[in-house]
Amino acid sequence: MRDKTKKIAIIGAGITGLSVAHYLEKFLKPDDAEIFLLENDSRLGGKILTVIEDGFVIEGGPDSIYLFKPGAMELIKELHLEESIVRPPVGARAFIFSRGKLRNFPEGFYGLAPRDFIKFLKSDLFSFSGKFRMLLEPLIPVKDTGDETLGDFVRRRLGKEALSRYAGPLLSGIYAADPDDMSILATFPYYKDMERKYGSLTKAALRAPVKKSTGSPFLTLDKGLSMLVEAITQNLHRTQIVLDADIRSIEKDRMGYIVLGREKLQVDEIVLASPSFDTAKLLKNLSPEASRILKEIRYVSTLTISMAFREDGISLPPGSTGFMVARGENLRISACTFSSNKWPGHAPEGFHLIRCFLGRAGFEKVVDYENDEILEIALEDLRKVIGELSNPIFYRIFRWRKGMPQYRVGHLNLLGNLGESLPDGIHIVGAAYRGIGIPDCINQGRNVAKVLAEKYENSKN
Ligand SMILES: Cc1cc2nc3c(=O)[nH]c(=O)nc-3n(C[C@H](O)[C@H](O)[C@H](O)COP(=O)(O)OP(=O)(O)OC[C@H]3O[C@@H](n4cnc5c(N)ncnc54)[C@H](O)[C@@H]3O)c2cc1C
Repeated sequence: MRDKTKKIAIIGAGITGLSVAHYLEKFLKPDDAEIFLLENDSRLGGKILTVIEDGFVIEGGPDSIYLFKPGAMELIKELHLEESIVRPPVGARAFIFSRGKLRNFPEGFYGLAPRDFIKFLKSDLFSFSGKFRMLLEPLIPVKDTGDETLGDFVRRRLGKEALSRYAGPLLSGIYAADPDDMSILATFPYYKDMERKYGSLTKAALRAPVKKSTGSPFLTLDKGLSMLVEAITQNLHRTQIVLDADIRSIEKDRMGYIVLGREKLQVDEIVLASPSFDTAKLLKNLSPEASRILKEIRYVSTLTISMAFREDGISLPPGSTGFMVARGENLRISACTFSSNKWPGHAPEGFHLIRCFLGRAGFEKVVDYENDEILEIALEDLRKVIGELSNPIFYRIFRWRKGMPQYRVGHLNLLGNLGESLPDGIHIVGAAYRGIGIPDCINQGRNVAKVLAEKYENSKN
């Protein structure tokens, strides 16, 4: 009789793969499954990468977790990390760099549409004609086009200024994407829902319950987000973790699958949590169709540069956490976080830590620039925004080649086709599919673990 213990391989140990392992251990009993977490790199965490240097907590990849998406907070609680949570100071504010200067982030908005018209009219981010156009939004007819680009959607409903000065930097910045190449349905479907349900984003905004602000919707951890990776790992008691696994391909055999890497591993189920282009390579022989579809998902290369300054070497707008750059400005940085203001404790007393983002759709070549060129660009642009500043006492650059998956129009159809092309026992999750943010990745990991646990339960009956 066949052994009842299932063998499950998870490929890729970014936050998605780690979450799969965490929840498999939670949902399956020790005798139910043997779990393998196989990572080609020599460290865990993927894009999550914190470096602590001379008291500076430097994030190479993500630096914050969005609170209002389910998934992350539950995991943080399960891992007893609540005491390590750091939130931006109450009243801290971000800016948008537009028409050559920093402008306050507009207040009185619900999503993309204004609902406190006094505050909206006072904002200096938009021109008179831009505001007028945004106020006409309730009169714009509903166009149920199915999927469309974020750019088309915002221009159609709120006008081009709302896109270039507000929605563009705010929403497409998250994906380092061109809003004219981003699927609204795959990235911000609730705006389409609002249009469909209320006929207008403004009407939806006016009907939404007014909640008392509880401060910034973001959090981090006192020693950076790598703490999350470490806590998940320490809490894995029966997952066999293999680093430098050198996984090259997957083959079918009579009993299930063979994962070919530094060692040969025979398993029943495989969860692929690697970037889609790596997953495409692994599935080349097993499912050429899935591999072809995966190759259609494009990625953009970006980088972050973190710079440490003495407090008297840089002058930051008081209480500010950073700025985004409106479209069409003469800057190469796309956003900047004043990390030491945003995250208390992430720089030693008397110093500032500043992190700039470079690289986006249309400006990817910057990742191939030399370090000193990147530093020069960041400093030159920062000077245009906040005025004179000294050279940093040190800086660190993190390049993310093909780091940001792009959800283009038709992304959801692509996922449908991908699902149909996968052989039984092969599961695909991660930032390239159903959400790029850390909570989305955790949720995808949890969901696939649940599917596997249910499948196992059913197989026993
Ligand atoms: C600069 C930057 C800033 C960001 N900021 C934020 C933020 O503030 N908040 C937020 O929520 N999100 C942010 N994101 C997005 C978020 O960090 C990522 O989407 C998320 O961490 C991706 O997790 P993942 O596990 O899906 O993929 P990854 O982290 O890419 O992990 C995939 C893993 O698979 C491994 N792998 C690849 N091929 C193989 C193979 N053949 N065999 C075995 N292993 C393999 C890789 O080495 C890697 O470790 C940011 C991303 C970047 C790049």
